[in-house]
Amino acid sequence: MTATNTLLRVEGLRKHYTSPRRWLSRPQPAVQAVDDVSFTVARGETLSLVGESGCGKTTTAKSVMRLIEPTSGSVLLDGEDLLKLSPAQMRQRRRDVQIIFQDPYASLSPRLKAGEIVAEPLKNFGNQSAAERRERVQWLFSKVGLRPEAIDKYPHEFSGGQRQRLGIARALAMQPKLIVCDEPVSALDVSVQAQVVNLLMDLQAEFGIAYIFVAHDLSVVRHISHRVAVMYLGRIVELADRDTLFNAPRHPYTQILLSAVPVPNPRSPAQRMLLQGDPPSPANPPSGCRFHTRCPLAQPVCKEQAPPLSVRAATAGTDGRQEHWVACHFR
Ligand code: SF4
Repeated sequence: MTATNTLLRVEGLRKHYTSPRRWLSRPQPAVQAVDDVSFTVARGETLSLVGESGCGKTTTAKSVMRLIEPTSGSVLLDGEDLLKLSPAQMRQRRRDVQIIFQDPYASLSPRLKAGEIVAEPLKNFGNQSAAERRERVQWLFSKVGLRPEAIDKYPHEFSGGQRQRLGIARALAMQPKLIVCDEPVSALDVSVQAQVVNLLMDLQAEFGIAYIFVAHDLSVVRHISHRVAVMYLGRIVELADRDTLFNAPRHPYTQILLSAVPVPNPRSPAQRMLLQGDPPSPANPPSGCRFHTRCPLAQPVCKEQAPPLSVRAATAGTDGRQEHWVACHFR
């Protein structure tokens, strides 16, 4: 991959939530949901964000498209900083960045027919006639595997998998460059999950769309990703291409996370490592390495100094995309 292939460059992204100060009370510490997160996404690439609940993966993904307003940082899409755009400019730019939600039913208006839901962005942004829009919607339905007659059905008449296909058709309508997939298959049956994941991969191959894929199911992540970023308490602790991350993880947190993935062959049981305790509060994160309170390898220096996310090995590529990044003093 070359540097010109970079579609999205996120630098120093922060989302800190502050609660309003009550009269005569002490100021509350800010909740550091996302703290100094940087990464790139190439055209046609899938970058997955993984980690425990509350690690900041969904906040990061939604901040990229300003569904959550970040506290600071920059989000460069094709070199343009989305965080500097006015609301009206951002509305126009949203054509290029779409989202697929975890719960398709909650994200689809129950009062609109399926065809109207998919046609909505075309109506808002396009200048096609009603007949042209209908033709385009039928084409989108065929691309996501929905029958043309489904256009006149309401969301409640679809199964969970069909509703997610509808959500994908709506996201595709404006021919986006990037789609944020926020746990898109975790509410679906396992058999349907595979169909939806394969559909996303087929659409990527056909249209060159990039995905930021947020998920907690590591088997799905392994299937769909080109690269994977592991987050812990608002920061990226490891980032590598899919095979390197799954076959040779370096950060202790990643190793523990991956050891919990079920092994298909019962004769070669994996050595399961257990994560001790609950994650600390992002309102009061541990000093130094944020993982030191749970890390089996922690040393005194870990409590004092935060390890920077730095390159350990480069497998290929000239723009750093194939580099293996780790935030640990000893790995
Ligand atoms: Fe563990 Fe220390 Fe590495 Fe943090 S820096 S992951 S505490 S060994």
